[in-house]
Amino acid sequence: MTIAYVGLGANLGDARDTVERALRAIDALPAVRLSAQSSLFRSAPIDATGDDFVNAVAQLDTSLTASALLAQLQQIELAFGRERPFPNAPRTLDLDVLLFGSEQHQTDTLTVPHPRLTQRAFTLIPLLQLDALIGIPGYGPAHTFVAAVAGQVIQKM
Ligand code: AMP
Repeated sequence: MTIAYVGLGANLGDARDTVERALRAIDALPAVRLSAQSSLFRSAPIDATGDDFVNAVAQLDTSLTASALLAQLQQIELAFGRERPFPNAPRTLDLDVLLFGSEQHQTDTLTVPHPRLTQRAFTLIPLLQLDALIGIPGYGPAHTFVAAVAGQVIQKM
């Protein structure tokens, strides 16, 4: 079993409802158990257009590999009708593998830990809400990156 953390984001339609339904869809995946979920947060778009995002982080127990988990998450994105008319277009649902146990690897399709995890308040803060002492393999304690994202306003919903 591996403890994995997944970031959820939505900014089209009823984004809050999308994130809540996506959490249930993740919990329903075979070989995946949702063991904790952060609060929902509202954040302004970064490198993207459209409405504010609703974000959350999920903690999972899984017997899948990281790439198998990503493939399952991409199926959920598709099921939620994600369309990609242009890069960083508004999205129905975005799911990212933030952390996968102590794994550190980079392929064409998967980089773990997620390379922008420490740079975005909307992933870092919900992660710290779940585990204030969590370490990020290759980076160090997650809390040491908080000051660097302090300028990004996120709001607990
Ligand atoms: P995005 O548009 O940000 O959702 O990026 C999706 C692409 O990023 C997919 O083609 C994935 O293969 C790739 N990717 C690389 N690392 C990750 C990760 N840790 N979590 C999710 N997608 C990833």
